[in-house]
This record gives sequence, C-alpha cells and structure tokens, in this order.
Amino acid sequence: MKKIFLLFSIAASLAACSTNAVTGRKQLSLIPDEQLQADAVTQYRTFLSESRVVSSSNNRDAEMVKRVGSRIANAITSYYNGQGKGAILAGYNWEFNLIDSKDVNAWCMPGGKVVVYTGLLPVTQNEAALAVVLGHEITHAVAKHSNEAISKQYLLQGIGGVVGSTIGSEQKASIFSNVFGLGAGAYGLKNSRNSEYEADHFGLLFSAMAGYNPQEAIPFWNRMASAAQNSQKPPEFLSSHPSDANRINRLKGYMPEALSFYKPIKR
Ligand SMILES: [Zn+2]
Repeated sequence: MKKIFLLFSIAASLAACSTNAVTGRKQLSLIPDEQLQADAVTQYRTFLSESRVVSSSNNRDAEMVKRVGSRIANAITSYYNGQGKGAILAGYNWEFNLIDSKDVNAWCMPGGKVVVYTGLLPVTQNEAALAVVLGHEITHAVAKHSNEAISKQYLLQGIGGVVGSTIGSEQKASIFSNVFGLGAGAYGLKNSRNSEYEADHFGLLFSAMAGYNPQEAIPFWNRMASAAQNSQKPPEFLSSHPSDANRINRLKGYMPEALSFYKPIKR
C-alpha cells in the first residue's frame, strides 16, 4: 500500500513540476496559485489577529516597513509588466505589517502577505538593508519557492493526490506554521540552497530597482552573523539563512548587475 502511494506521489509530483517563469528552473508545485493565495490570506489574517500589529498611523518603523515594501512591490510589478510577464504577479494583493516581537525575522506568503518583526530592525539598521531582506523574502513568494516548500509538506504528510479537497484547515494551518515559522521564537523551514541563491540574487536586483543601495547587503549579512554570536539562541532569520563566506561571496558576484539597476531615490 505504502509503495503504491509512493509511486502515486512521485507520479503526481512529476506531473506537478513546472518551469518557473521567474527563474527558469523546474520546480515542484502541487497547489494551484489561486488556492495557495486564498489559503495564505486565511493564515495571514489568523496570524495578525494573534499578534501585536504595530499601527502605522503614528509609528515611524511601521511606516518604513510599508514604504520600503511598497517600493519593492512597485519595482517588481513594473519590471515584469515591462517584460510582458505581468501574469507572474496575478492575484497579488500586497500587505506589509510590522509585528511587535523580539524575534529576528521576516517573511512573505504567496500573494504578497508580508510581515517584519521589530526584532529584525536593530540588525537591518537602515532602509536599504531592510529592502535587501524584503527583496529576498518577496522573491521566495514570487519565484514560487513557497509553493515548492508547501508542496513538499503536502507530500510528506501524504496529501499528494487531490490537493485541497482532502486537506483540513488544521492541517493547512500546521503546514503554513512549519514553512513560515509562525509561532513565537519558531524557526521556519530552510529553503533549498538553489532557492536561497535565487532569493539573494533577485532580491538584490529588486531592492536596487526600488532605489535602495544593494551594497548595504554585505554589512547587513555581517551584522546578522555577529547578532548570532552575541545571543544564546541564533536569530530565527539566521537559522534558515546562514550567513557564511559562500553567501557573502555570491552576493558580491551579483553586485555589478544589481548596481546597473540602481538609481538612488531622490529625497
Ligand atoms: Zn531565504
């Protein structure tokens, strides 16, 4: 029985591999985008209702998160529209919220539902570094890394078949919680190394297109590494995004291309 299921899962996942419009890479995607986006709205609303959302009406940090996030979203939108690939962002309805939490973390769910935790801000220190993080997290959603990660969870839980009709709301909640690390102090799942490099690469380009100096990425990742040395428990973001020499070297390699897109914001 187990064998039959496994064969079925493999067949289902092969059939569900599609070529990604952003990265050109073949990726597992079991769940239709519309369904994933609808599920993300439910999980995002639940998460916000259970968290301390910082109101942006009178808070500079919350305003900054919305400002930086919107600029990156606009840059991505005009970039793909300009390439005739606006369909990549179909169904995107961007939201950016700052959560009062000492967790050093940020994420973006499919459909553009973004959260930054206040604990991240002492490490980003400036808007350009925040743009680097948001560009990275948004790329995970736009390049469908999240669909891939959630699809893998479906398979692990034995839900490879008729996705959506057989999965209960509790199971969906636990899959989202695993993938994004929604509990306080929780670690999200690690993305594959390929996905991480893609998110670093495209994230850097998008933050440069949005008018933020991509060179801030290097000191940011160095600060993230020292934040780990100064605390007993590694920051949530760092546990799924190790800051090592490989990452920094690759970022330096992407820099000339990113700088070619960089036009500083006029203030
Ligand atoms: Zn990542």
